[in-house]
Amino acid sequence: MDLPQCPHCYAPIMAQPDGTCPACRKNTLEAPPENRKYVAVEISADQTLPPCCMLCGRDTRRIEHFEFRYDSHLGGELDEQAYLAFVLLTLCTCGISLLLLPHYRRYLNKRREMVYHIALPLCDACLPKKSRYRPLTIEGTAYHFKVHRDFRDRLAAIAPPKPTLA
Ligand SMILES: [Zn+2]
Ligand SMILES: [Zn+2]
Repeated sequence: MDLPQCPHCYAPIMAQPDGTCPACRKNTLEAPPENRKYVAVEISADQTLPPCCMLCGRDTRRIEHFEFRYDSHLGGELDEQAYLAFVLLTLCTCGISLLLLPHYRRYLNKRREMVYHIALPLCDACLPKKSRYRPLTIEGTAYHFKVHRDFRDRLAAIAPPKPTLA
């Protein structure tokens, strides 16, 4: 059985007896009706999507490319230490490594940043909302997005939900 989704953060949850969502601590009984128009769905980056705007559910053939950037959670501090060691090495040798320093810095920055790409149907009217739109979660190539219910229904029509293992 699928758990109901919180109407604030859209996490699948079992609300506490007073209606509090354990994930976002908001009251699930007091969500603005507007929130009920949306639902969280799992979408993978290579999935076929319906010609339907994911934010308002209206027909659209427009496809927008989204890019999401995150700092990698691992090794931020370790990388700083490695960089410091490299600087010290540079000070000691003062030779060729000085030339490599900017490259090394760039390499570290790139490693620390995770970049995700996905193409999603989004109509002209909803385009202004694009910059604020973020996935709820990303795991590898599987995203959870807050989408309009109509989009969810049309998505389910072309890609039936995976049967859950008992
Ligand atoms: Zn919540
Ligand atoms: Zn739209």
